[in-house]
Amino acid sequence: MNFQIPNDVLFILDRLNSRGFSADIVGGSVRDLLLGRSPDDYDITTSARPEEIKAAFADLRTIDTGIKHGTVGILLNDKVYETTTYRVDGEYKDSRHPESVSFTRDIVEDLARRDFTINSMAYSPKNGLTDPFDGQNDLAKGVIRAVGDPMLRFSEDALRILRGIRFAATFGFEIEPMTSAALREKAKLLSNVSAERIYVELRKSFDKPHSYGVVSEYSGVILSVMAGLDSIVLPEKDAYDSADYMSRILSIFFLSSENPSRAFDSFATTLKTDSHFRRLGSQVLMAVGKYDLTDSLGLTKCLRDNGEETTHALINLEKALGHNADSALLSSLLASGVCYRISDLKVGGADMKNIGLTGPKIGQALDNLLTAVIDGRVENEREALIEFLKTN
Ligand code: ATP
Ligand code: MG
Repeated sequence: MNFQIPNDVLFILDRLNSRGFSADIVGGSVRDLLLGRSPDDYDITTSARPEEIKAAFADLRTIDTGIKHGTVGILLNDKVYETTTYRVDGEYKDSRHPESVSFTRDIVEDLARRDFTINSMAYSPKNGLTDPFDGQNDLAKGVIRAVGDPMLRFSEDALRILRGIRFAATFGFEIEPMTSAALREKAKLLSNVSAERIYVELRKSFDKPHSYGVVSEYSGVILSVMAGLDSIVLPEKDAYDSADYMSRILSIFFLSSENPSRAFDSFATTLKTDSHFRRLGSQVLMAVGKYDLTDSLGLTKCLRDNGEETTHALINLEKALGHNADSALLSSLLASGVCYRISDLKVGGADMKNIGLTGPKIGQALDNLLTAVIDGRVENEREALIEFLKTN
């Protein structure tokens, strides 16, 4: 086993070793390296206590935000490396947070508190792979298995339920039967998890390559956190697979609710998503099916009523639903400077005043001109527009 580990990470491991501590990379980075993927970040686990970590890196900037849980951030070449003391979690009382944590010098105890066997391995050039729960084997078989008793592990921290689903959606792995049964059984405990954390996991589950199969198989669990819906109906697989995560979510609301826009708004409010996503999603759901998005006229009307961003998102949703929509045509219309807003007209308020219009008549005239241009009854040219106003 010979992984390519960044020099900065090796430097941290070496420094801790030189002070007599054991240190390894752990969790997602080991899993990803074994899968031949390049890890997003490297977490380090060590026998050193937080104060000992800080002393070992006294010449560097360290960040104390997680120190109560044993985590010291080490800032090296503009990146933060989270370095955490081997830890055992105390009793969990609220399905989310341990009442207390305590430190240990035994790496196996630290690995035992982690969620899934594939995430419970540690590695360093010095120690090789530490894999007490046979995570490497599960990784090779494509299995997600809780470490220890899954019922207990999901009762301790219900967020693990959604993490399990998310990892299945990421890697296309099967969830091992006992883990899968526990995950369904304990889904109701998700009500103890904060909306923000739920949404982060849910969004990832919708975003990943194997989302379709996992959302269908675990629709009951997903439903328990999809405020606003009573059932989950998915679009056809190929269309869903080609869609972005937002269109995937919206397609489900469109197919599963009598009033998709309202249901989505309730979902987005409950899960405290950002307000831009909430507004955009609701607007797109209100516009589905109202425009012919395969021709210039329909696309231009859609632009006029909804603006550019919503039109793009609507096209994506229509495609996710298997409907025809021409995004290339939209791009070429926009590139050619298609007129769809009052401000695109080659005349303005001053011209209206010049021909004798006043007050609200000005706005009305400009509106009429825009409609006439979009309908092709007049060219968007100054002379032609003024002439049109005079004769209509
Ligand atoms: P990603 O690739 O998304 O970062 P990850 O496995 O690295 O996946 P993190 O959230 O970065 O996930 O967590 C790092 C490690 O911490 C995990 O691999 C796992 O060992 C452990 N871990 C994280 N969250 C939990 C949890 N809720 N319960 C138990 N262990 C956890
Ligand atoms: Mg990670």
